[in-house]
Amino acid sequence: MDLEHQDVKYLPGVGPKRAKLLADELHVCTLHDLLYCFPYKHIDRTRLYYVHELTADMPYVQIRGQILSFDVEGEGRKRRLVAHFTDGQGIVDLVWFNGIKYVMSAYKTRTDYIVFGRPNAFNGRINIAHPDVEPADSLRLNAMGMQPYYNTTDKMKRAGLNSRSIEHFTATLFESLKSEIPETLPAYLVKSLQMVSLDEALRHIHYPTCAEDLRKASFRLKFEELFYIQLNILRYTRDRRNRYRGNVFTRVGALFHGFYEEKLPFELTGAQKRVIREIRRDMGSGRQMNRLLQGDVGSGKTLVALMSMLIALDNGFQACIMAPTEILAEQHYATFCQMLSGLPVRVELLTGTVKGKRRQGILEGLEQGDVQILVGTHAVLEDTVRFKSLGMVVIDEQHRFGVAQRARLWTKNVRPPHVLVMTATPIPRTLAMTLYGDLDVSVIDELPPGRKPIQTIHQFDNRRESLYRGLRAQLNQGRQAYVVYPLIKESEKMDIKNLEEGYEQLCHDLPEYKISRVHGKMKAAEKEAEMQDFISGKTQILVATTVIEVGVNVPNASVMVIENAERFGLAQLHQLRGRVGRGADQSYCILVTKFQLSADTRKRIQIMTETNDGFEIAEADLKLRGPGDLEGTQQSGVAFSLRLADLARDGQIVQLARNMAESVLDADPNCAAEKNEILWKQLAKLRKTIVDWSAIS
Ligand code: ADP
Ligand code: MG
Repeated sequence: MDLEHQDVKYLPGVGPKRAKLLADELHVCTLHDLLYCFPYKHIDRTRLYYVHELTADMPYVQIRGQILSFDVEGEGRKRRLVAHFTDGQGIVDLVWFNGIKYVMSAYKTRTDYIVFGRPNAFNGRINIAHPDVEPADSLRLNAMGMQPYYNTTDKMKRAGLNSRSIEHFTATLFESLKSEIPETLPAYLVKSLQMVSLDEALRHIHYPTCAEDLRKASFRLKFEELFYIQLNILRYTRDRRNRYRGNVFTRVGALFHGFYEEKLPFELTGAQKRVIREIRRDMGSGRQMNRLLQGDVGSGKTLVALMSMLIALDNGFQACIMAPTEILAEQHYATFCQMLSGLPVRVELLTGTVKGKRRQGILEGLEQGDVQILVGTHAVLEDTVRFKSLGMVVIDEQHRFGVAQRARLWTKNVRPPHVLVMTATPIPRTLAMTLYGDLDVSVIDELPPGRKPIQTIHQFDNRRESLYRGLRAQLNQGRQAYVVYPLIKESEKMDIKNLEEGYEQLCHDLPEYKISRVHGKMKAAEKEAEMQDFISGKTQILVATTVIEVGVNVPNASVMVIENAERFGLAQLHQLRGRVGRGADQSYCILVTKFQLSADTRKRIQIMTETNDGFEIAEADLKLRGPGDLEGTQQSGVAFSLRLADLARDGQIVQLARNMAESVLDADPNCAAEKNEILWKQLAKLRKTIVDWSAIS
């Protein structure tokens, strides 16, 4: 049977109407899709209980016996049907609060049934409300083993298509299969990892006979998913390495040394030194660098970027750094100009607001090679931006960019430039291996010395006075503060109103201080002026939406107040908090929330108050939200293509899959051996269904 092309509607019991629902609601169109429509849980129906064993704290149980009689009890809304059920040793009440007529006509007394439900205590007795009742002799499905539960939607339920129906379909399908489902992994792999065959795995993922079966099936299927992802990434990476030679930067010359010896205002941290060494090694190796630099907020990535760019310059090439917001690009520009002052380097800033003659001058300078460092936003991607010889590209806060945008930078030079992507959103290792599996990873795991951990405090929004007391104490010592409001796109107007109101209130309540404000809807020039007032210390408080989230650096700021903190995710809270604590003084982050909080929000706030460690927060975030919601995962589509594996929980299998993929490719780089034929077939098939998630940069 050709499972992949056989329409599910021809399966007995399905038909065109239900087939359409399955397709619309669950994307199940073919028999193959049905096989891969996995249950989300199983309920153990291997054990029958006696009525006298039941207690109210048990989860689902099943009992076998007969209904002795029915009674309708109670009045009005409390009217209920009670069936007195016995297993010959004890009696338990089965209770229905609705569908009374149906139940009375469907079930008979003196007939053997299997009853399945959750025991409750009521008036000192045990009953089971709304149980599943099935004739004991018609249970041809797995009702006595581990019963699968499938996801369904409201629309399906309204049409009477529930988990039980899908169970019938999958059971029918397995019964009708005449031969084994063909294997999709090379036999030697299955054997060496002592995995079950695909046929067995698929049968047992739906219908295990015990928990151990289910575990083996799930391991095999998870491994396979992750293995093909890794194989694809690694093949792509190896191929790219062979295809693209990198510019070889052998010289570490006058600019790098001049900067290091004369301009650098502080000692590099050990981690910064190590990462710069890694980058130098890459750029001198003859292959093109593709490196991800992870480092917590405030760990000093900008400096690493600058020094790496200087190496490109020392070798006669140009360099470019791209940032996600104008404010950030402007700030990098200012930092670079200041740090490089006195050295013969021409740095220019290119954003959407740089126009006319000035823009023309920059573009010409780039083509002639006079502009050596270009700092900019997406504007640098435009076709009119052409370099004489671009040797190195840095992408800051890379998770803010799409895959396609990053890829365009590659084409700015005949030979692709070396690429360094930087992120302050820490990514747990297993996720990084999958998302950025084709990149080499460097980590700055050390903050510059003398930083005091930021103190994070949770405060309910009805306690303004105590918030102001804290603020005044800091501001009166000459420090500065941020007050941030969430910005949610759907109701941008409302959010700006929140911000404006908050601003008015602050002006009213703290009249002795000067206050700036910025939000995304302001004109660039206006925004810049307000930012500048804050950076130069003319104003003491900056009221802002999340436009300041990434990268802004004002070391004198020591307080970060986050309003409506319940509306921010963990990663964002951590990013925002990272705006303070950049000097040597004690800094504070105040999370202001309403009083009523969901359990998840409370957990988030708790994590924030307990740790400053970005990696710990990222792990917690991954667990709370699942990988599909993390920034960077959505655009890549990886999380969506996984049916079973969970990047948060299956870290060990990710690692195993990667190791196996490596060793397969080491032994047979082109998968040309006969035993590897199956790999090609599977990769080709998968590529059709999965977005191109391997091309990250
Ligand atoms: P991020 O990694 O978040 O981009 P930045 O590069 O903005 O961090 O650096 C944060 C602050 O730390 C800046 O003010 C920078 O000048 C300072 N800094 C960077 N490296 C060091 C160092 N080795 N010693 C002291 N301060 C440093
Ligand atoms: Mg930064």
